[in-house]
Amino acid sequence: MHGRVALSTPSAAHWTAADLAGVVAGHWLGPMPVARPLAGFGIDGRRLRPGEVFVAIDGARYDGHDFLAQAAGAGAALAIVERAPPDPPPGLALLAVDSTLGALHRLAMAQRTRLRAAGCRVISVSGSNGKSTTRHLIHQLLSAGGLTGTQSPRSFNNHLGVPLTLLAARPGDDFVACEIGTNHPGEIAALGALVQPDLAVITNIGEEHLAFLGDLSGVAREEFALLDQLAPDALTLLPASPWLAIEPPACRARIARFAPEAGLVAAALPGVHNQLNAAAAVAVARRLGIAESRIRAALDTAQPLPGRSRILFAADPGRPTLIDDSYNANPDSMRAALALLRTCPAPRLAVLGDMHELGAHAPTAHREIAALAAASAERCILIGPGFAATAAPTSPAQVEHHSSQPPTLAARILADTDPATCILVKGSRAMALDRLVEELSQRI
Ligand code: ATP
Repeated sequence: MHGRVALSTPSAAHWTAADLAGVVAGHWLGPMPVARPLAGFGIDGRRLRPGEVFVAIDGARYDGHDFLAQAAGAGAALAIVERAPPDPPPGLALLAVDSTLGALHRLAMAQRTRLRAAGCRVISVSGSNGKSTTRHLIHQLLSAGGLTGTQSPRSFNNHLGVPLTLLAARPGDDFVACEIGTNHPGEIAALGALVQPDLAVITNIGEEHLAFLGDLSGVAREEFALLDQLAPDALTLLPASPWLAIEPPACRARIARFAPEAGLVAAALPGVHNQLNAAAAVAVARRLGIAESRIRAALDTAQPLPGRSRILFAADPGRPTLIDDSYNANPDSMRAALALLRTCPAPRLAVLGDMHELGAHAPTAHREIAALAAASAERCILIGPGFAATAAPTSPAQVEHHSSQPPTLAARILADTDPATCILVKGSRAMALDRLVEELSQRI
């Protein structure tokens, strides 16, 4: 996901109000707070924890300045604001700056400098698919190797989530694993400049956010813009051929390759795509000196994130197997999930929701994926206007279309499903197929 971030990140015991005010060049609207270490940084008043700094961001959907009282109630140590509120919450110290977003970025850059000085390795994970999975695997492998580190909370990978991730790093961390995402040209370069990774993993180049990035070459241009931001001693990890659809342009960046290896797969993470994600995480772990035995042990116990290639009920022959890939979808991740479904014995059912943000590519992409689904499963249920516009593919598969998710879908699916069936559920986030997975899980 490259989207809204609404959390706070506990961290940064090494920040005090005084040095924070210096970094953001702010001025106090009233008394400065009493000197004590700050507990972390947050932008969502509802989730702020006592002692954290509340950064009031004036965003597309909400204005953080409307939540100052909530932040005060949650025990904020201070708030960074762009203007004095008409009714300042009593007891909340306010630090005024020109731009709160700018302040968040300045703080993150200062934090990056502190992390470097403390010997913390900053690892970025970008690419079209598999960022969260790979970032999570890296955290699991490095932790199993005895290193201490912080990782992006959830899919914190945009202009808010990336600085919050850096600021979440704790003193003494050996590493920070930071996801970097994009859906508009220029975002990767900006976030790369902020993160300045020591190790930059690019998982792959695929058909993501084509509505804004144009086509596969546009995606490659955007993703490889990271290489121009790297320090000369940074190392980029890229998939080896044939796993990378487009090679990077000639550049000065130091590049090493990773590729799936027999015997080095995350046991609970199925699919060829996850072998590649595991290979990326293994490459990082090796670079950081983790012993092979620790890497293997961590891969044996690694677990998928919710909604990403999670296989449920496979051990029970009396119940259908459910592949929960409901978290999100684009054409490449659909291909990956359908490839996984094809490895299951028949009968197979593909329940697919529309893929969003494809712009002019949407009709072709939905047509292609509908045809691939019909070739991968005996039965397909296609949901959403994007799929509804595709003609029924000429194949023996039984295909039904729905313009939106019917309320009784889970019950209907299970009423006429053989217990030996393998059911794949996948669609873009806004299609909310995680609700269907939840209902199916309760009924299976
Ligand atoms: P997003 O940008 O939507 O947050 P992401 O890049 O963080 O996604 P994940 O959340 O790890 O990726 O995985 C999302 C989906 O992408 C998975 O459910 C799976 O279907 C697919 N996927 C994961 N890894 C790969 C990969 N290496 N290649 C292709 N598809 C993948």
